[in-house]
Amino acid sequence: SLLTGREEEGPEFGKPDFVLLDQVTMEDFMDNLKLRFEKGRIYTYIGEVVVSVNPYRKLPLYGPEMIAKYQGRELYERPPHLYAVADAAHKAMKRRAKDTCIVISGESGAGKTEASKHIMQYIAAITNPSQRAEVERVKDVLLKSTCVLEAFGNAHTNRNHNSSRFGKYMDINFDFKGDPTGGHIHSYLLEKSRVLKQHSGERNFHSFYQLLRGAKDGQLQDLNLQRDPALYTFTQQGAGLSVNSDEANYQAVIQAMKVIGFSSDEMDCVHRILAAILHLGNIQFVETESGLEVAEERLVDHVARLTATPRDLVMRSLLSRTVASGGRELIEKDHSAPEARYARDACAKAIYERLFGWIVGRINEVMEARGRDPRRDGKDTVIGVLDIYGFEIFPDNSFEQFCINYCNEKLQQLFIQLILKQEQEEYQREGITWQNIEYFNNSAIVELVERPHRGVLAILDEACASVGTVTDRLFLQSLDTHHRHHPHYTSRQLCPTDKTMEFGRDFRIKHYAGDVTSAVEGILGKGVCSGTYSTDLTLRSMWPDGQQDITEVTKRPLTAGTLFKNSMVALVENLAAKEPYYVRCIKPNEEKSPGHLDEERCRHQVAYLGLLENVRVRRAGFASRQPYPRFLLRYKMTCEYTWPNHLLGSDKSAVGALLEQHGLKDDVAFGHNKLFIRSPRTLVTLEQSRARL
Ligand code: ATP
Ligand code: MG
Repeated sequence: SLLTGREEEGPEFGKPDFVLLDQVTMEDFMDNLKLRFEKGRIYTYIGEVVVSVNPYRKLPLYGPEMIAKYQGRELYERPPHLYAVADAAHKAMKRRAKDTCIVISGESGAGKTEASKHIMQYIAAITNPSQRAEVERVKDVLLKSTCVLEAFGNAHTNRNHNSSRFGKYMDINFDFKGDPTGGHIHSYLLEKSRVLKQHSGERNFHSFYQLLRGAKDGQLQDLNLQRDPALYTFTQQGAGLSVNSDEANYQAVIQAMKVIGFSSDEMDCVHRILAAILHLGNIQFVETESGLEVAEERLVDHVARLTATPRDLVMRSLLSRTVASGGRELIEKDHSAPEARYARDACAKAIYERLFGWIVGRINEVMEARGRDPRRDGKDTVIGVLDIYGFEIFPDNSFEQFCINYCNEKLQQLFIQLILKQEQEEYQREGITWQNIEYFNNSAIVELVERPHRGVLAILDEACASVGTVTDRLFLQSLDTHHRHHPHYTSRQLCPTDKTMEFGRDFRIKHYAGDVTSAVEGILGKGVCSGTYSTDLTLRSMWPDGQQDITEVTKRPLTAGTLFKNSMVALVENLAAKEPYYVRCIKPNEEKSPGHLDEERCRHQVAYLGLLENVRVRRAGFASRQPYPRFLLRYKMTCEYTWPNHLLGSDKSAVGALLEQHGLKDDVAFGHNKLFIRSPRTLVTLEQSRARL
């Protein structure tokens, strides 16, 4: 390239920014996406938003040399890349002491987690040039935490061999030098039902297989385990799916836990809990004349020993439950066989969830921020990275999918609001007048779920409060009554001819991404299980809420749905207070195959991610806005006054001269720092005169 420091992408690679398209149609969008994908250009901008397509192959786009190319550069100086966005977020943080966040979205297998890792690696690479020991430690923990969380929170699924089964939001704190001094991880809604059951072709969480395949013989003996995952109910389903990295990953996770600062006692405890869950899963019940019994009592012995809990407590919590009967009187009620199985499963799920939460909490303790930014009254500046599950639509959806999809609607709403808000603020800042434009508004769907008193979650809360009297079927009836006319809600009752739903079992929410049918079966969960009776301190610390009074428990605990809603509302508030950057990930095909882009599937994702609208909003009023230097870099060769360099005092007046010569001056507005171009036609004209040279 003739232009010093600039990396040119020729026209054969398509448009590096969808805003430069001649027309904003799905066809043009897809043509550009496809062309770039085929040439290994997996990243394309929409303004400052990065659209990324999973290449499913190793591309030479990462590593120290690439990082050096992007460090300290402006977004437009290099081909589109995650590094450019990471750098922009870091610059905003460092130069302007602005809290920023990078929101990564897309469906399962689209490349969100990989993107978040590249972003973290970039940030780690460009910070702490003076090698301060404390900062190095924080960076180590930040990078290593990913490995540990993936072991316990990721699983092999049909869509992704390393699918995150939890949502993750990570804050990285920076001091005034721009170096990381701490961090904090929030995890959202671990898919704990996976502990019990997996779809065919899928596995339980990696951690179980890693333990079974990676632990030494002696350790397995101590845990009363045998090596073969096929021997355990919970891991049997995925036992045949040999993920040959289990053994190596077991070592890597232990190493990572050591670096983070887990003690060997703590790691032992983690392994004992995993083992206890596996034994718990194998417990069966038999009905005898004297009542319900456990088929293999030695499994109960193992669970009791491994969790350091009195044996008869374990036995009792499986075979009976304590209920409050009027006032404070407690009675012990024997379980039927199905109730006992339910108690066993609820317990296994709860223990795993607590274990996961405890691991996240331990990592947070270690990463607690110590740096202070004097420009912000000692408050750190933060970059947040959100890697959260995308829309999930299965033939059969559980409560977990319901929550995940609600979360996506919420984030989509935020995306639309912020993108518009940012636009308006920019016009104001630059002293340009602007008119509002219409966009798809998904608030009807968000409201359907979260509205007080009559939203799906409120009705669910109501139903959960009276489990026993309210059945799944009554819950569904209540939904039907409240939402019979809602454009995004339906059920078989309301739509009797639709055979894809079952009477009295299913309800359907029409998301922008597609119709999601959920079964209400078992949605009214119950069951308490506690580790507070354990004599193991680590294990007991996983139940910090302590020994709950049973009469308290039965009062009216917050339901999982409400807890999730509250955490989503808090997340969205948190993100809205930051300067957002977006990475929109697209999954090119279902087969995880490199080099193939299934147009139908991609079109669908482009549609529900609202990418065309994003381009339109970006072009509405003004198709494009560019800082004057950037504009000159791209077009100065088209004008004699500006090539190779201009002598016109300011870049702003040079741009004025260039546009004058092209006869395009009427179609633009001159902001303080940026040029605003009204119609795409002008951009096309400029692009053409550039191509003619
Ligand atoms: P989930 O929602 O299931 O967690 P995800 O969006 O986080 O999905 P990833 O785990 O990031 O998806 O990506 C899935 C797989 O795709 C990766 O394991 C990797 O094999 C491949 N992949 C993703 N991004 C890239 C990339 N930039 N280069 C090469 N391969 C990639
Ligand atoms: Mg992931």
